[in-house]
Amino acid sequence: MAHWMDRLASGEQFDTRQWVEILSQYQNETVREALFARARQTAQRYYGNAIYVRGLIEFTNYCKNDCFYCGIRRSNACAQRYRLTKEDILSCCEEGYALGFRTFVLQGGEDGRFTDDAICDIVSAMREGWPDCAITLSIGERSEESYRRLFAAGANRYLLRHETADPEHYARLHPQGLTLEHRKACLYALKRIGYQVGSGFMVGSPYQTLEHLAQDLQFLSQLRPHMVGIGPFIPHRDTPFKDFKAGSLEMTVYLLGILRLMLPGALLPATTALGTISPKGREMGILAGANVVMPNLSPLSVRKKYLLYDNKIATGEEAAEHLAALQRRMQAIGYTIVTDRGDCKPAAKGT
Ligand code: SAM
Repeated sequence: MAHWMDRLASGEQFDTRQWVEILSQYQNETVREALFARARQTAQRYYGNAIYVRGLIEFTNYCKNDCFYCGIRRSNACAQRYRLTKEDILSCCEEGYALGFRTFVLQGGEDGRFTDDAICDIVSAMREGWPDCAITLSIGERSEESYRRLFAAGANRYLLRHETADPEHYARLHPQGLTLEHRKACLYALKRIGYQVGSGFMVGSPYQTLEHLAQDLQFLSQLRPHMVGIGPFIPHRDTPFKDFKAGSLEMTVYLLGILRLMLPGALLPATTALGTISPKGREMGILAGANVVMPNLSPLSVRKKYLLYDNKIATGEEAAEHLAALQRRMQAIGYTIVTDRGDCKPAAKGT
């Protein structure tokens, strides 16, 4: 029988038992090396040695939700709240464009102050100012009508992690009122509208089992998103999950390798959380098949306030202004940061 990596690469679907067996080998060095070599070859075939960068603008840390894992949850009275103005956001774009960014990601909590009108106004101004750039939104669950308006205003991409594909696990991570069903409905609506869609999950979130990870992979293979963001869960001291341990670096990169074979043309970031749990985390992610990094373009004055988890890296080489240093790190492992919108290659499109 063909090896599971060949079968995965040829599009075969695995059941939960098969996935659990594959996932349980995550610490086996021989398996890891074979997986990563293959994942790198696949990424090379689609993207060469290019690494795409996205300028991340964390524009509000107000949030109406109370997700148990998240440092900007509504009930965290210790969070110092802030909102950027439209002018602040546009100056981040101006700075980012000069540095070579061609994708801007507007990410924030679910902040009622940012109505459809307000976001459309910001997106239209960005579209007008930087017509050659992609605009990605990551602002949580909204109505299909709202997603349509934002798309019409000029947004191209949307990041919304499903967080976990198991409804009971979802309920252990989120308070009542937030459901997996609605999260999934949002993802399918975004796809219908025509966004390039990113989903994903935290690795090692509290109560997560290998069966849950298997369900995550099965869900992603059905959804076939254009982007998949995965990163380790990292506890935040002012949340109900403060005493849980962080997710594993090894499992996160192993999953990146698997995702590269499963969705060969997808955009896979080596996330900030991965860079936070290990100084070499992002390099390890790229060597496992990731092809995107998302340096922080938020103004320095607010960077330390968008704290989703403890010890988030905030002013080092993950910062947009230190792109040259990041470039050196990428070149040291055989890759190069390019000035490009970095759209998804056809294999992951139209599905
Ligand atoms: N509000 C938007 C949403 O829900 O999609 C975007 C912002 S939300 C803070 C972005 C992502 O941060 C979430 O999808 C979650 O996976 C991640 N995140 C939140 N808390 C985290 C933690 N403690 N450790 C790792 N990742 C975390």
